Amino acid sequence: MKYISTRGGMAPQAFSDILLEGLAPDGGLAVPETLPQISAETLESWRGLSYPELAYEVLSRFATDIPADDLRALTRAAYRQGVFSSEDIVPLRPLDGGLHLLGLSEGPTLAFKDMAMQFLGQVFEYVLTQRNATLNILGATSGDTGSAAEYALRGKKGVAVFMLSPHGRMSAFQRAQMYSLQDENIHNIAVRGVFDDAQDIVKALAGDLEFKTRYRIGAVNSINWARIAAQVVYYFQGWLRATTAPGQEVSFAVPSGNFGNILSGHIARSMGLPVRRLVLATNENNVLEEFFRTGIYRPRGAADTFATSSPSMDISRASNFERFVFDLTGRDPGRVQALWAGLARDGYFDLSELKPEFESRYGFLAGTSTHADRLAVIRSTYDTTGVLVDPHTADGVKVAREFVEPGVPMLVLETALPAKFSDTIEAALGRPVTPPPALAGLESLPQRVTVLDCDAQLVRRYIEAHAKV
Ligand SMILES: *Cc1c(COP(=O)(O)O)cnc(C)c1O
Repeated sequence: MKYISTRGGMAPQAFSDILLEGLAPDGGLAVPETLPQISAETLESWRGLSYPELAYEVLSRFATDIPADDLRALTRAAYRQGVFSSEDIVPLRPLDGGLHLLGLSEGPTLAFKDMAMQFLGQVFEYVLTQRNATLNILGATSGDTGSAAEYALRGKKGVAVFMLSPHGRMSAFQRAQMYSLQDENIHNIAVRGVFDDAQDIVKALAGDLEFKTRYRIGAVNSINWARIAAQVVYYFQGWLRATTAPGQEVSFAVPSGNFGNILSGHIARSMGLPVRRLVLATNENNVLEEFFRTGIYRPRGAADTFATSSPSMDISRASNFERFVFDLTGRDPGRVQALWAGLARDGYFDLSELKPEFESRYGFLAGTSTHADRLAVIRSTYDTTGVLVDPHTADGVKVAREFVEPGVPMLVLETALPAKFSDTIEAALGRPVTPPPALAGLESLPQRVTVLDCDAQLVRRYIEAHAKV
């Protein structure tokens, strides 16, 4: 299996080679040259597998340059009880009205980012050790991604993490989650500014080629192909748990922001998994819902991006969308290049001529929700089923109900646990959420964070003093 760029300008490369890179050299994203196909017989033979075994089967189709025994050890280390609080790793629970909840948030940071990040942490350490290399991860976070990366990379050999966060602007729970890590390779830097200021510092430092090369600066952002591949596994797991016979169809409803999670669903479907519909759910930031409704992709500026009660979906531009558009245009890199050139020039592109295929060929449907919808869904789901969903999952449940069909199980992806967003739960139910027992004393643990003024030079000096060399 080799990987090429969506814009056509990269010689085919192996999985381990694209693993540590961000964008392809031509500005595109790495995708498999051809997708592996999983036959109905193979799928049936996977029914009894544990989650790490299934992860090995799926990921071995993508990471063909990692020896089988090594990859097995990596998936076993990534997906084990102790790291995940459910024996199933990804449990499936019934809701009402044909809906089921696929539990992706049993990992250490209570959100689905752990599913990909835990594997990424293992495979990074493996490849760096093989190559006798080091890497310094630099990122900015306003919550979920940064903490998932830190929990996945804590204590790993050859890698350090420098995570910038906006000083005083995360919830007490989020701060405690990140800042209580005492591992020497984890560096929390709180900058006196907002998230965009932190992000600008990351861009400035990562854009300085001399600094980037000298200190081996890397990223764990959502365009990393290994993250997409690791997420494909739970679509297979969901299908295997919700069906009993070959060819039975299920649908998935996916709370979406950067198009990372649902892209993995599209990949699973393209590999032959019997998926009927992929239902994309957005909140008030409905760039993607607008695309599936009109065929026009029009990212928004920061001023037009709302702060909502499902904050991890508050994006203006969907980083992974280019990989789907590559398939949509018949894998034509020239077309993709032209579309993104148009986007830079005009601020939008128009694929409305392909609109009839969105559903008929790719199974995509889309909907949105509002703050009031989320509160109503949290309340009604709790009242009728006793299950408490977080506000992101509530976006998914709301839109799933609009598209559920008789006889086709609709699996809603649970992208976070309610304990992470207690304020919104309190607004819906009139009482806060008790955190899981393992995290009860989290906010009283000692915290380890360096506060810096919002200045790239200060951050640069900090990294120079603490980087892995
Ligand atoms: C990241 C995130 C999302 C959005 O996922 P994408 O892959 O960006 O579409 C949804 N819910 C939660 C809780 C998240 O952390």
